[in-house]
Amino acid sequence: MKAPAFSYLRAQSLAQTSALLREHGDAARVLAGGQTLLATLNMRLSKPQLLIDIAALPELRGIELRGDFLRIGALVRHVDIECSELVAQRLPLLSQAAPHVAHAAIRNRGTLGGSIAFADPAAEWPACALAADAELIVSDGQRERRVMAGDFFIDLYQTDLRAHEVLVALEFPLPGPARRFAFAELARRHGDYAIVGIALAADVHEGRLSDLRIAFFGMGNTPMRALGAETRLAGTQADESTLEAAVLSLDEDMQPDADLHSSAAAKRHLAGVLLRRAVERVLQPETAQ
Ligand code: FAD
Repeated sequence: MKAPAFSYLRAQSLAQTSALLREHGDAARVLAGGQTLLATLNMRLSKPQLLIDIAALPELRGIELRGDFLRIGALVRHVDIECSELVAQRLPLLSQAAPHVAHAAIRNRGTLGGSIAFADPAAEWPACALAADAELIVSDGQRERRVMAGDFFIDLYQTDLRAHEVLVALEFPLPGPARRFAFAELARRHGDYAIVGIALAADVHEGRLSDLRIAFFGMGNTPMRALGAETRLAGTQADESTLEAAVLSLDEDMQPDADLHSSAAAKRHLAGVLLRRAVERVLQPETAQ
């Protein structure tokens, strides 16, 4: 199918973008990489009358260090993160995750901001943002506000982003020397949306875990932290009985629904498998980064 007719406008500023979003309401959509939006138009799942292309807005570009943060603009493409030396050195969780985001052709156009704003429950970046405790910067064209990733993803495809706001960038706190990361997912084919995935961050001191942030995706309507598992693993060396208790606690943390490919029980089992893999990985510092 082809997309329904729509008007197209290349925005010149954030203020103009928000003004247009205010003026046109639900009839307008921001266009970033188009890798999700254009597919939904072609399938006639959405019929906006106006697409506002934000590709020319400089505030949404760039990967840079700003104080204690790594700032990544909303328009930074998946492939830019995958290939960034700065990201590999300072926030390797994202480098581990990037090759799993869709297929190469989509990574060449799709953007970090598009993925975060769309908030697919099986997408990699929202879970990474949660595990890495990112702060999201959004603008209404006049002023910016900041939202922690943990408060941003509200429900299925529903975020804290207001209708006239644009996601500008994500700021990730730079990890200290003890911080380790692990990313893993299971998908039917490499590059497909995950059945279940995990992004894990933890400090490791002499083989002992602390300050864990474990985010699962594909397990519910939003990415979600496994708080029970975090508690059970904190302060331990994750011996077998601790790991087993952490895996069992996932049943309290998450109650996934079945999807087209997997039963709820299969998802719960896979989540346990991924938790074990991720913990083992962070406890092997030489391979974890
Ligand atoms: P667009 O398609 O341009 O926009 C998506 C939505 O976000 C729209 O509603 C748009 O209005 C809004 N939006 C975009 N940018 C902003 C902004 N800065 N501020 C406010 N709103 C904004 N993704 C994964 O994570 N993992 C996968 O495995 C995966 N597999 C895919 C497989 C296929 C076959 C396809 C077609 C897509 C897949 N994707 C996957 C989605 C892909 O990563 C998209 O690139 C991404 O979700 C959206 O980014 P985009 O820049 O293309 O956004």
